[in-house]
Amino acid sequence: MPELPEVETVVRNLRTKIIGARIEEVELNMAKVVSTPDPETFARLVRSCEIRGINRRGKYILVSFSDDLVLVVHLRMTGQFVFSATAQPNPKHTHLVLHLSNGYLRFTDMRQFGRFWLVPASELNTVSGLKDLGVEPLTTAFKMNDFCDLLGRRRQKIKALLLDQRTIAGMGNIYTDEALFRSKIHPERLAVEVSVKEARALYRAVREVLNDGIAFGGTSVRDYVDAEGNEGRFQDMLRVYGKKGQSCPRCGETIRRIKAAGRGTYFCPRCQK
Ligand SMILES: [Zn+2]
Repeated sequence: MPELPEVETVVRNLRTKIIGARIEEVELNMAKVVSTPDPETFARLVRSCEIRGINRRGKYILVSFSDDLVLVVHLRMTGQFVFSATAQPNPKHTHLVLHLSNGYLRFTDMRQFGRFWLVPASELNTVSGLKDLGVEPLTTAFKMNDFCDLLGRRRQKIKALLLDQRTIAGMGNIYTDEALFRSKIHPERLAVEVSVKEARALYRAVREVLNDGIAFGGTSVRDYVDAEGNEGRFQDMLRVYGKKGQSCPRCGETIRRIKAAGRGTYFCPRCQK
């Protein structure tokens, strides 16, 4: 599933391509990908809108239109949002195409969990999950002391806490495992039992892995591609995620995979305490 670095990469790609473009036609091949409004209203409202901006909040993409409308997109498991300047045949699983004045913006999604919402800017809070999002970890609003205090209050496994979008927005399975590895914390530790020193290391690791992920254009372990259809490169930089049975790059111990917070979780049993 695309996490913060992948969604940020898509947003940065698109920002250079679609701002100022006008939507000329809407091709909706699978009605259920639009959560709200109904398909006819969606097509009618979107047609002739101009794209004014594009931003990210957690794992959501927010495309600002003229008429004070916002198109909210969540890629979920396998959604891809790809721009092409020229007409091309739709790839398999293309559910929505926005025909722009300067190209085509396609949404493809094999698993069909990705969703669109078109809402007035003043009603963004009605989009499922958006209003409950926690702090953006790469902004100045994410403070080390707040993070340490939070961990000290929660009797929750640290992995589950990091995955909870209401706590920190945008973390997913890959970057969580990588951050816990870098800070040498076992994924099943209770947050409250993580020391202040470890919490500080984890805080730094969270920001570091997310920034590294963005710097390398995201992680393509399955379906993720950026808005130009290219794979990311951070999968080559992963230290534990997906490395079951391989040697820990820090201590040489064999990396294990367990279920933690309901997710396949990779860690080093020797150097993550
Ligand atoms: Zn190790």
